[in-house]
Amino acid sequence: MTQLLEPGAQLEKVATGAIWAEGPVWVAASATLRFSDIPNNRILQFSEATGELTTYQAGVDFTNGRTLDLDGSVIQCSHGGRSVERDRDGEVETLVDRWNGVRFNSPNDVIVKSDGTIWFTDPSYGIKKPTEGHPGDLEYRDHYVFRFDPRDGSVVPVVIDVETPNGLAFSPDESLLYVADSGISPPDGVRPPDRPGGHSIHVYDVFDGRLCKNGREFVEVDPGLPDGFRVDEHGNVWTSSADSVQVFDPSGQRIERVMVPETIANLCFGGPDGRTVYVTATTSLYRIRTTVRDAAHVLGR
Ligand code: MG
Repeated sequence: MTQLLEPGAQLEKVATGAIWAEGPVWVAASATLRFSDIPNNRILQFSEATGELTTYQAGVDFTNGRTLDLDGSVIQCSHGGRSVERDRDGEVETLVDRWNGVRFNSPNDVIVKSDGTIWFTDPSYGIKKPTEGHPGDLEYRDHYVFRFDPRDGSVVPVVIDVETPNGLAFSPDESLLYVADSGISPPDGVRPPDRPGGHSIHVYDVFDGRLCKNGREFVEVDPGLPDGFRVDEHGNVWTSSADSVQVFDPSGQRIERVMVPETIANLCFGGPDGRTVYVTATTSLYRIRTTVRDAAHVLGR
């Protein structure tokens, strides 16, 4: 079995001062780790070179998850805009904000496939939690995962059977899509008795690069729930939970666990060699050295 953590690696707290840190991405061009501080309505960035935490942008209409597009620009979810948007050096452009004539709820997390399509989850935390966006209604009355194709502007629901889809990621060859369910923590704080309250990561087979079928439970995550997560180049799933980063191999067996002193929202691979895992955990940003990189490296990204 691959040794996943660098020998002697220790979790290190590198920055603090957020209320709810989420949506981390490593921006190679500036060698910074960028993330959302949702209730403070700002985007922060941590510089590896200086160790400084600075505000990248304030008044950002409650951004959440983010990823890099194929061209290196940042794609991010906007609770306030109920949209997915692109940030290019501080210039923000809305990419997509509705499906079938109705608005999304509040896009939460986003990934880009190697063909350039943008896949994102749409739970309703940003319209149901007053500290994370603006009040609003579920215009299509559910929570879906969508696929947006910038080439023709099409928007298609790809997963409709996860109660509260949150984090998402592809396997290294993009033949599997993983989707976290945070239904155990419902967006409005009250779970209807007739709706499931899951805390599992689900997995789907991806056919023809665009169709998700054969959905099944991959792992149930305890304690707490899986919010954001990433897949490494060997197909292992590195997920958030209430007390630790937990790593599951492709068969669903837990093979590593890193205790973290705050509740974790999300994580990502970063650093110049891509082998540092950065963890956004409530008020703080943590990191630990590993031996692996993000799955995206397998397809040359
Ligand atoms: Mg999330």
